[in-house]
Amino acid sequence: MFYRLKETKRGYLRKPDWLRTRLTDAYDYAGIRDVLDHGTLHTICESGRCPNKSECWKSGTATFMILGDICTRKCKFCSVTKGKPLPADAGEPGKIAGAVVAMKIKHCVLTSVTRDDLPDGGASIWAETIEAVKDRSPYTTIEILIPDFKGRTQLVQKVIDAKPDVISHNLETVRRLTPLVRIEAKYDISLKVLSFISSKGIKAKSGIMVGLGETDDEVYQTMDDLLDTGCQIITIGQYLQPSVYNLQVKRYVTPGDFDKYKKIGLEKGFKFIESQPLVRSSYHAEKHV
Ligand code: SF4
Repeated sequence: MFYRLKETKRGYLRKPDWLRTRLTDAYDYAGIRDVLDHGTLHTICESGRCPNKSECWKSGTATFMILGDICTRKCKFCSVTKGKPLPADAGEPGKIAGAVVAMKIKHCVLTSVTRDDLPDGGASIWAETIEAVKDRSPYTTIEILIPDFKGRTQLVQKVIDAKPDVISHNLETVRRLTPLVRIEAKYDISLKVLSFISSKGIKAKSGIMVGLGETDDEVYQTMDDLLDTGCQIITIGQYLQPSVYNLQVKRYVTPGDFDKYKKIGLEKGFKFIESQPLVRSSYHAEKHV
């Protein structure tokens, strides 16, 4: 089914019904708010205005952003602030671990901006944060969504040595659109990182957005490329334009098409596929451990 696109006054494409969500509900955010503010911590749940926040927080999953909130890259789909990041906070690993304990997080997802400004790309802070969470909350499972470290596998190894349960690295889009959507990133470098993770026996996961102009055949080719790396888990969600400075939505993929992607992806061999309009990288992440 094809959804006819209509433009709003501000130049955004009007969202179809299946993307309209009620963001607020009765869940007690206050306590969590204090914990995060106290630790000057960022969650992508909040900075990304994720529609799944309450469902995830209720199920004891939250995604923390480490290494600050200013990125050295300029991906055209992303609303994170770009520019010169602040120095890394050596105390951050302990603060994250404290928040995980205070928020009773069962499944902790860590992500970060890309720190091409740091000699090790931030790999040491990544490793220290994983170790701190494991130390303070040994029953919490840990999933990390890492940048590409410019394909430097010795840095990826540093993070692997901290023994997270799942390592995710997002391709974000299909090969043809990568230069437009992710600018500094390279499709093959991302595949190399995922292959390296799988070769070390760690569960590898990736995610893409659709609605940026890709074809179904390109989505299936991306699935094949990911499976060739040993990646077992994929998330597929609708790209939503965060601001007028970001890429415009080219199409709203229907729920029926997302179901089709899931069916075909499972037939191709993925162990887990989350494929729905509002799916984000860490949606139902606790199920993938
Ligand atoms: S590297 Fe990540 S945080 Fe940075 S602009 Fe791209 S998507 Fe956003």
